[in-house]
Amino acid sequence: MTEFRPDSYCGLYCGACDILSAFKKSLDTGQKAQWSELPKQFQSLPFDTKKSEIKCYGCKTDVVFDGCSHCLIRKCAAKKTGIETCLDCEKYPCWRHKLTGLVKKVFGLEKKLPHHKDIKPNLEFIRQNGIDKWLNEQEKKWTCPSCGERLTWYHPICEK
Ligand SMILES: [Zn+2]
Repeated sequence: MTEFRPDSYCGLYCGACDILSAFKKSLDTGQKAQWSELPKQFQSLPFDTKKSEIKCYGCKTDVVFDGCSHCLIRKCAAKKTGIETCLDCEKYPCWRHKLTGLVKKVFGLEKKLPHHKDIKPNLEFIRQNGIDKWLNEQEKKWTCPSCGERLTWYHPICEK
């Protein structure tokens, strides 16, 4: 059985991903996750993307959302040994990081992908404090302190 993984190679925290969270919830409820239930930012996605199943156990597993399965950074890191994050690679920051940064800038995706601005600070935190401390901090950051509800990149504030 595949286990959920909240961490990625590039520095994104998959534990706060709306797709992963929706899939996790669907396993709990037994109801298939629907695109229409995701936050409003997902409603303007191209039809092709919305044909993909909302299913993901995290970047570091073999069951990854279709949109992330094409990520150059993930593909590269996954085939190397001993890479926990890109920090462990002597080539970081390599052209893959630079290219994805450039693509985001050119296509104006930075606003659409607000969580991507955390990539560098997250890796910097991991460099200074280690990944376990980072995972603990992220777990706290993405949990509502009052009711314990899981928060996500596109639903970062609890409305309960
Ligand atoms: Zn709450």
